[in-house]
Amino acid sequence: MSYKATIGLEIHAELKTSTKMFCSSQNNADETRANVHVCPICLAHPGTLPVINREAVRQVLRVGVALKGTLADYTEFDRKNYFYPDLPKGYQLSQYEFPLVSGGSLNGVDITRVHLEEDTASSIHDEMTGETLIDYNRAGVPLMELVTEPVIHSAKEAGDFGRELQLLLRYLGASDADMEKGRMRLEANISVSNSDELGTKVEIKNINSFRAMERAVEHEIARQTDILDMGQKIAQETRGWDDSKQATFSQRVKEGSADYRYFPDPDLPSLKLSQIEEFSEDALKKTLPELPSERRQRYIHAGIKAADAEQFAAYPRLADFMDKVIVGNIKDEAFIQRATNYIVNDLVSIIRDINKRDTDLRGEIPISSMNFTKIMRMLGDRRISSRGAKDLLSLVIKEGRDPETVASERGLLIDAAGLDVESAVHNVLTRNKEVVADYLSGKQNALQYLIGQCMKELKGAVEPTELRVILMQTISSRSAT
Ligand SMILES: [Zn+2]
Repeated sequence: MSYKATIGLEIHAELKTSTKMFCSSQNNADETRANVHVCPICLAHPGTLPVINREAVRQVLRVGVALKGTLADYTEFDRKNYFYPDLPKGYQLSQYEFPLVSGGSLNGVDITRVHLEEDTASSIHDEMTGETLIDYNRAGVPLMELVTEPVIHSAKEAGDFGRELQLLLRYLGASDADMEKGRMRLEANISVSNSDELGTKVEIKNINSFRAMERAVEHEIARQTDILDMGQKIAQETRGWDDSKQATFSQRVKEGSADYRYFPDPDLPSLKLSQIEEFSEDALKKTLPELPSERRQRYIHAGIKAADAEQFAAYPRLADFMDKVIVGNIKDEAFIQRATNYIVNDLVSIIRDINKRDTDLRGEIPISSMNFTKIMRMLGDRRISSRGAKDLLSLVIKEGRDPETVASERGLLIDAAGLDVESAVHNVLTRNKEVVADYLSGKQNALQYLIGQCMKELKGAVEPTELRVILMQTISSRSAT
């Protein structure tokens, strides 16, 4: 039997506003003290009235514009009623019938809707005493929920979508979208079917990383396929992902949306968004930065390889640095290639060595774009070798001094006048007649060896690619005679 998996995602992200969604308590995700950013409104004292956070609405609308979705003209907030200790009001303010954004797409995945709601408090379970403690700092924090259409068919596609959304939210400054800190949370709806009809939907929660999501989706597809293979039915339920067991487990049978008894909140006004100038699509568009997809395209257009362009898009700090380096050299494709290589390989590995925790490369780049550009120019002008450029890069980062001075002090400058490539190649070929014979009989490794020998002879002053050409030409002209 051939089965097809269909996946839809629900992604929550805490917005990075200064205050909460419906009150003026601080929205401070880095707070370590419990229950300090609270007030009668977010603690749901009787008689208090919520006020809509304008900035939160604006941020979700900006996300909508970036996704090329349709912005709502009319919108309202609804009460989603359920009882849980982390929900002080006994209902959550969310959006049901009139989400802020409908449609749009990202990474080729169609989006159903994006709406705005409030976060719940956080529950801390104390294993020792069996007690549950509640921290209301998070209660009422603006939360964006994005729902995709069920159009994803593999774990990798699901992971790629999540990563791209995280990147987009960070570019927009709408959310930190840190998964390990719970500022971005994923749920996947997965169904497996062997017909054109969708199978029974199983919802997976407790996913704490993109890697975990990919594994959870793979595991769930396999589990459902096994059940169908045995001729049994899939139960519609919510399952959790257990990272230590690498398996999903049943949590509860899913309730339908009717169970929440949604109705418009009588304490909040409905919004006619077209009457608010700063919420118009044109006004919002002007506030958008260059988006990840646009940045990628710009680099590819400049002649940068797709994989390197992806690195730059993923690490904006690195890309900002790259932009400063190439600003005066935008027509010089060789320079751009060289700078790209040294940034994505050498510079990144140096940064990761210096600061092992900075895997996201969000810290300062440890060299000025001016000094880096100088090194790239010296390399392009053949005043230093590629080996010398690597050494010089490390030294300039360590010492923070001018590359010219460092290079001349350390003897890294190539004495071009004293360089005799022809006799070096001649010497190497004379010393290695057997290797040359091997090369002529078709052994490609032999050429690599000869290049290495020439490099040694010339102390790295000539690039291997260049030596390859010189060697091939010399050998073929010699063997022809
Ligand atoms: Zn409050």
